[in-house]
Amino acid sequence: MHAAFGADQVLLGEATERYLHDWSGIGAKSALAVLRPRSTEELCALMELCHAHDQPVIPQGGLSGLVGGAVPRGGEVLVSLERMNRIEKIDTESGTVTVEAGAVLQNVQEACREAGALLAIDLGARGSCQIGGNVATNAGGNRVIRYGTTRDLILGLEVVLADGTVLDMMNQMAKNNAGMDLKHLFIGSEGTLGIVSKVVVKLHPLPLRTCTALVGTESYASALTFLRQAQASLSGQVSAFEIMWSDYLEIVSETCALRSPLDGDYPVYVLIDMHCGQPETDAARFQAMLEQAFQQGSILDGAVAQSVAEAASFWSLRDGISEILRDFAPTLNFDVSVPVARIGECAEHIRANLKRDWPVLNALFFGHVGDGNLHVVVCRVPNSPEELERVEKAVYSVVGRYRGSISAEHGVGTLKKHWLAYSRTPAELALMRGLKKVLDPKGLLNPGKLI
Ligand code: FAD
Repeated sequence: MHAAFGADQVLLGEATERYLHDWSGIGAKSALAVLRPRSTEELCALMELCHAHDQPVIPQGGLSGLVGGAVPRGGEVLVSLERMNRIEKIDTESGTVTVEAGAVLQNVQEACREAGALLAIDLGARGSCQIGGNVATNAGGNRVIRYGTTRDLILGLEVVLADGTVLDMMNQMAKNNAGMDLKHLFIGSEGTLGIVSKVVVKLHPLPLRTCTALVGTESYASALTFLRQAQASLSGQVSAFEIMWSDYLEIVSETCALRSPLDGDYPVYVLIDMHCGQPETDAARFQAMLEQAFQQGSILDGAVAQSVAEAASFWSLRDGISEILRDFAPTLNFDVSVPVARIGECAEHIRANLKRDWPVLNALFFGHVGDGNLHVVVCRVPNSPEELERVEKAVYSVVGRYRGSISAEHGVGTLKKHWLAYSRTPAELALMRGLKKVLDPKGLLNPGKLI
């Protein structure tokens, strides 16, 4: 490796340590080396070499993953995309941005904003996650309710296969039915089918203003009524609808030394954003919608952010999850989805199951509810694998009952692999394995992950 690629590209021994862990907290084994290509050609050459020597490879993005997908299991070569981070072209006329896969999401967002366009992929890990990682995990995040998941925003991809073959699918158009749309095989495949090296992402008009409010409601049912009212009166302009149960808000306020802008305490809180194309009239519509919801009783109180800084302070309540994950480790992080209308009862079932068997464990509930996505963080979980499995079962058995998904947006990695059959049929799993065999017959790409 050293001889073929030079010391600068190949890290060994202690230098590999910062590449061994993601945010899942999963225990890592050592890696043979970390390779850091600077171009598709270099990536291709190193994949050819690994393929010739039957060397397993793990693609790595910004290591913000929550399911252990990029973590070594022993003896793999880690391929970090961090040096392939160029923003090649922002085309505001066609509404596209072309980037190398290792570009950090926030850097691309900022470059697009400066060019007058919105890159709508957005998540709390924006400062470290990479576009390639977002594609590989089909990241969701805060704006799905308005703009869709990463899959909905990707127009084209370049992918390097396990044997070094480069698949150029750098489509720039919204419509292209010339045969099968192969890029979708790789979106959400968690590095098991190919390494994403370049990406074309669809851009949207930059909102001229964002209206933000934090409201308190009586129950999940009221929050859902509020969602429907907001969607009806703001005609599709709701760009975030984040829900937080009171236990989450209390702990995040305490942990991050933040203050809720509301005076009272409420069972369920909603953080709502509206992207405005016409600042004055849209702000008045936003205010009127809140007043109507208050009169009709779906919300009990609300605060509208009066400045960008105040909106950011409301959002820090939601984004404070990163500090909770750190301060309350070890945590078990659930990222499930069920039909939107059933989230309230699903959350109550899960809460009851956990309270019944582990009365002292603290479980926090929040999520991107407009998308049917519920997050549950169980804090300071016991160390024993058997006990952890019981906690997981207490949650996933409820999700299974609603025919929900064990992974709404974080992916499967190693942490959720064991539970995949709760959400996928045997026929689906067999087809996934078949596709893996076709694209990576030697099983060298991210072995042991996802399937
Ligand atoms: P990594 O963690 O490095 O890798 C993740 C997986 O993708 C691994 O399987 C890896 O092998 C594969 N991979 C990475 N790059 C490539 C590539 N170029 N080609 C092929 N495979 C690759 N996720 C959400 O969906 N929504 C959220 O709202 C959200 N919020 C988060 C908030 C915080 C505070 C944190 C820590 C995480 C959050 N996440 C969220 C999870 C995580 O940020 C996303 O999964 C993200 O998309 C991972 O990107 P990454 O570059 O860090 O990938």
